[in-house]
Amino acid sequence: MHSTTAPSTPTHCPYCALQCGMGLAPDPRGDGGLAVVERAQFPVNRGALCGKGRTATAVLSSRVRLTEPLVRTHATGRLEPATWEEALDRIAEGLSRTRAEHGADAVGVFGGGGLTNEKAYALGKFARVALGTSQIDYNGRFCMSSAAAAHQRAFGLDRGLPFPLEDIPRTGCVILVGSNLAETMPPALRYLTELRENGGTLIVVDPRRTKTAEQADLHLAPRPGTDLALALGLMHLLVAEGRTDEAYIGERTKGWEEARAAAMAHWPELVERITGVSVPELREAVRLFSTPKDAMVLTARGPEQQSKGTDTVGAWINLTLATGRAGRPLSGYGCLTGQGNGQGGREHGQKADQLPGYRKLTDPAARAHVAQVWGVDPESLPGPGRSAYELLDALGGDVRSLLLMGSNPVVSAPRAAHIEERLRSLDFLAVADVVLSETAELADVVLPVAQWAEETGTTTNLEGRVLLRRRAITPPPGVRTDLFVLHELAARLGVEKGFPTDPEEVFEELRRASAGGPADYSGITYGRLAAEDGVFWPCPAQEGVEVRGGEPVGAEAELHPGTPRLFLDRFATEDGRARFVPVVHRAAAEEPDAEFPVLLTTGRVVAQYQSGAQTRRVAELNTAAPGPFVELHPQLAERIGVADGEEVTVVSRRGTAVAPARVSRAIRPDTVFMPFHWPGEGRANTLTNPALDPVSRMPEFKVCAVRLERTAA
Ligand code: SF4
Repeated sequence: MHSTTAPSTPTHCPYCALQCGMGLAPDPRGDGGLAVVERAQFPVNRGALCGKGRTATAVLSSRVRLTEPLVRTHATGRLEPATWEEALDRIAEGLSRTRAEHGADAVGVFGGGGLTNEKAYALGKFARVALGTSQIDYNGRFCMSSAAAAHQRAFGLDRGLPFPLEDIPRTGCVILVGSNLAETMPPALRYLTELRENGGTLIVVDPRRTKTAEQADLHLAPRPGTDLALALGLMHLLVAEGRTDEAYIGERTKGWEEARAAAMAHWPELVERITGVSVPELREAVRLFSTPKDAMVLTARGPEQQSKGTDTVGAWINLTLATGRAGRPLSGYGCLTGQGNGQGGREHGQKADQLPGYRKLTDPAARAHVAQVWGVDPESLPGPGRSAYELLDALGGDVRSLLLMGSNPVVSAPRAAHIEERLRSLDFLAVADVVLSETAELADVVLPVAQWAEETGTTTNLEGRVLLRRRAITPPPGVRTDLFVLHELAARLGVEKGFPTDPEEVFEELRRASAGGPADYSGITYGRLAAEDGVFWPCPAQEGVEVRGGEPVGAEAELHPGTPRLFLDRFATEDGRARFVPVVHRAAAEEPDAEFPVLLTTGRVVAQYQSGAQTRRVAELNTAAPGPFVELHPQLAERIGVADGEEVTVVSRRGTAVAPARVSRAIRPDTVFMPFHWPGEGRANTLTNPALDPVSRMPEFKVCAVRLERTAA
């Protein structure tokens, strides 16, 4: 981070869902670039940034990014520089040919949880209006879809955190399940530190003793894939010890009898056998969680990225309902969404089953409302399409062409070698990205698009706080915005209107499309966002109030303040009551056996982000985290004869990966961990299992069976 006296542009980090506030100022070295400066007054991170945020401007450099369109030529078979006209014509031609020969659903669209709200909205509209395809989904499906599904099922509405982060230090106890905040969102760790300074307690559930788990009063290390049983065991003890809140259950919930009966089948000794967490540890967790007046459960990818992720999150939500914590001040359940716009990206229509405003594509009233905003016949809107993995798996089958924006599934999808092969089998692949990612390398056309600091747009952070990212620098001459790409492609496909290139114009339409929906943004304007530290949705427009420059016009007019805290009066179900969902433990889709006796779990490291497409191009981050590794316990290392730093081969039913061993007592002896940021022979997702959750369609990234071998010299 630099210090400068030059005026800076307030904006937000391009990476994770914390969306830390930062300033961008001219680089004091005078090279025409930008430097990151502190923005101490923004409440979420109060100036703190992790290494990714501090170095975010490095990816703006033309040395590491795409600056001209690339088209694969018939003559050489290689990607060669082309003009924008040539590249856009080629994409329109490729998509049109597939549509003419195989029908609209043979064209797929794949988006990303890093796209701004405006881009996610425009991409969903482009798929349904310009292409007429139902085959659109996005990589956010791989991030938080199980928590979103469980949220919907229990509360009738999904917003990652139904309360601001600032509430966390003031609660009495937090159970943090499957989150390593110290590495994924370091500035957020202070909320947990302050919780403990204020006398609250922290329970961390993680198979590894992570840097976050080291902060905990109690660390529970269940076997991967058994957090559902763990939550049920805690529920059993809550009931057995009379620690449930029967008055709250009677007033604000439904379905308790069935959920209680399901939990009572998971007695502590059985749960100890399933999870490896001892009965005394279970009892201590119940005591810490149920004693204070207020408490929270926060989940992340650990319980969510499982073939039973929705039920697992549901079991943790049930704990908050049984103890009367959900929908009360300083208490509740929340999901720590991961991707930069993981929240907003799932609200405005790039998801297979969705229309803007978090509306359902199957709801006739929602279709009519959005069709009217779009100026099309509701009958013309396709129905729901396939989920992300299913869409990728169908490539080269009945989906013959693909337009992909802001995603790198060659590294980030489960069973990645198979997905890479599916991408190669397409008739036509177009990729819009800022760098030549591993997926872009396979494309027929690659479009170089503008980055976070080069264009204005909104994101919605993990709290449901809508934020304005501002343009601080002009993109290089050969670069265009994603909105420009969609505008030009729509025109070439015969849709001349409805795809503006100005982000504020898109946001104004998004406001109208979201009005009256669960994620209602209609009372939010760019002017307001420029003046405030974000606005929490739902924020409906006040009837009759005109907004100019962020201010209501008229003496009596007042703006809706936004909704930092949800469910305080009622849940978003028809009768206002939350729903207990009866859930029971079941095994992972793939359990260890004689051939594959070890469990693999995957995750992130602090210096890299998701598929690494951007962060692997930043020298400082690569020095800190240069490549993949296999973390394993000394007992396991000794058994296979591998020393720290030696190459180890990891084999699953889907493929083989090779990386150096990192021997550590921080992990269970029956489990190995690999970070998933790298391509090539160390690609963790070569190994992962695409078994899908039946509700959320989330793949089981967090647990599969593997065999370890010492790599031959
Ligand atoms: Fe960016 Fe997330 Fe790091 Fe904050 S924690 S600086 S948002 S990557």
